[in-house]
Amino acid sequence: MAFACTAAAGIICFMVSLKFSSQKIQQACLRGAFVLAACGLLLIAGCSEATQETAAQNQQTRPRRAATDNSVQTNEKKPEMSDQNKEPARDGAPSDFYAALEKALARRGSNQATLCQISDPVSRRVLEDYGAMFLSSESVLPPPVCVFTGEADVSKFQKQAGFTKAVIGGDEIELQPAAMEALLAARKEAQAAGLDITPRGGSEAARRSYKDTRRLWDTRFLPALTHWQKRGRLSREQVARLRALPLKEQVGEVLELEKSGIFFSKDLSKSILYSIAAPGTSQHIAMLALDVTEFGNARVRSILAKHGWFQTVKSDLPHFTYLGQAEEALPSLGLHAVMSGAQKFWIPNVVEKQN
Ligand SMILES: [Zn+2]
Repeated sequence: MAFACTAAAGIICFMVSLKFSSQKIQQACLRGAFVLAACGLLLIAGCSEATQETAAQNQQTRPRRAATDNSVQTNEKKPEMSDQNKEPARDGAPSDFYAALEKALARRGSNQATLCQISDPVSRRVLEDYGAMFLSSESVLPPPVCVFTGEADVSKFQKQAGFTKAVIGGDEIELQPAAMEALLAARKEAQAAGLDITPRGGSEAARRSYKDTRRLWDTRFLPALTHWQKRGRLSREQVARLRALPLKEQVGEVLELEKSGIFFSKDLSKSILYSIAAPGTSQHIAMLALDVTEFGNARVRSILAKHGWFQTVKSDLPHFTYLGQAEEALPSLGLHAVMSGAQKFWIPNVVEKQN
């Protein structure tokens, strides 16, 4: 291209020079045209060489760049793996809790509408706080509903799921068979390492009846009422009204009061749901939960996780849930890890709260 332009410029210059009578001017123009043409040729040769070099460099660079891309990905993944708040699944992308739940329920022949009335704020809150158990492996049976409303339904479910007994640390506990088997295997491993895994708080550390959950609710609800009345945050009339409310409304109003800092947990510093489950909703009713004495020991927690036992209720420090899943699969099952102190909690990965 440069050669053609230069040659054309030379020829035009020569043609123009013909119009002049002076032979000196004609010769000067001819010489100029040749010089320009020669420069053009050199330029083309140079460009061609440069193009070939660039192509050769590109060929060498591509695999190098690919290698660099891989190392970038690896470097980016490493912090993610150590970032406990966002641990990626090794066998699948992190999934939204509700999407994963729908799939898990479909595998069991159920659906979200049957499980839980999520348009009701209390039911939705319960599902999002305790819902990890509905993503458990096929080896166990999660409850058919997110809130049981009476003892008869709880008894029927517990009979259907089945449970086995074991005496651990002097206390008789009951769990679904697969959960118990995994617990005993974890305990064996812990004992081999000079540790132990024992129930915290006697038999109630594992299976509970509907009545148990109701009674335990009152152990938080009633003292908190007295406390907040003394502090002047609740009037005597309000307290009397709250005590007389039907259970479902009572739970709803407690959760509303907690939004303004009137908490009902044992230490009155956090939601009652992080301290005790709303009646009829406990993972202990599902016989998939155990409160562990040695919850503060990181090695114990690690052994339990290896055997499918994880912490799934945020801030309930001694409480473990049997999911029967591998830890690396939990993100793709709709859970994400959050830290509370040194403890890791696998809780429902709810992308958008619509409370
Ligand atoms: Zn518990």
